Amino acid sequence: MSLIRLTGVSKAYPPPAKGADPVIAVDDVSLSVEAGEVCGVVGYSGAGKSTVLRLVNALESPTAGTVEIDGVDITRLRERELRTLRSDIGMIFQQFNLFDSRTVAGNVAYPLEVAGHPRAEIAARVDELLRFVGLADKARSYPEQLSGGQKQRVGIARALATSPRILLADEATSALDPDTTQEVLTLLKRVNQELGITILVITHEMDVIRTLADRVVVMENGRIIESGEVFDVLSTP
Ligand code: ADP
Ligand code: ADP
Repeated sequence: MSLIRLTGVSKAYPPPAKGADPVIAVDDVSLSVEAGEVCGVVGYSGAGKSTVLRLVNALESPTAGTVEIDGVDITRLRERELRTLRSDIGMIFQQFNLFDSRTVAGNVAYPLEVAGHPRAEIAARVDELLRFVGLADKARSYPEQLSGGQKQRVGIARALATSPRILLADEATSALDPDTTQEVLTLLKRVNQELGITILVITHEMDVIRTLADRVVVMENGRIIESGEVFDVLSTP
């Protein structure tokens, strides 16, 4: 069974103005991602990539089709089950989305505090995560004291805090310079290979796909226009 499966998924937003047509952000998309895989979604701005991610973590519900995580249709979940689902899915962002008023440790601790874990357990887990991302010495620093690459490593540690099976990456390296991008991609590779976490990464950078992904789907105007092994798709003229 696929870990992530979208079947005939469409998402329409209401017309932006009276008399205008609805915006079809995602149009009849079917996509499955196996456990342990890194799947890339590429396409120009407006292609529907972010909407696909928001459908996978149930921030949006589809207007048609089904979204299943591990065989469970997530469009039918109640609030409590949704919380469980979200702790199974970590997310990282282009602009990192860290809390500026919290320390590095405080940022990583946040999802565990929300989930109500005991203090001592949180401290040990934060420690472990910061060592994993190579920021053990920055626990007491604030985001503004960090470089972009360090901020994204905090973002990754925070996304992993609840031990999710899935990591969603939304243009996670697009704000970084090429060297820092490679460093973050190396860390994401470890997240996949050492922790066995399934990664769905959306990007407009082909290098990200080449370095990280096993499989890639290409989106245009809300539809998947091509998909397959990275080597095959990217070598097609
Ligand atoms: P991408 O991530 O590939 O840039 P998006 O999924 O963000 O694409 O957007 C796909 C289309 O849906 C775009 O035309 C965008 O303007 C539209 N869209 C995205 N989110 C919303 C929203 N909340 N309300 C209305 N239209 C939206
Ligand atoms: P805030 O930024 O919200 O003030 P703190 O820095 O006080 O947050 O820490 C928030 C959480 O992170 C605490 O629950 C604590 O257990 C954990 N924590 C704080 N410092 C460390 C550290 N050096 N190593 C590991 N965990 C830490």
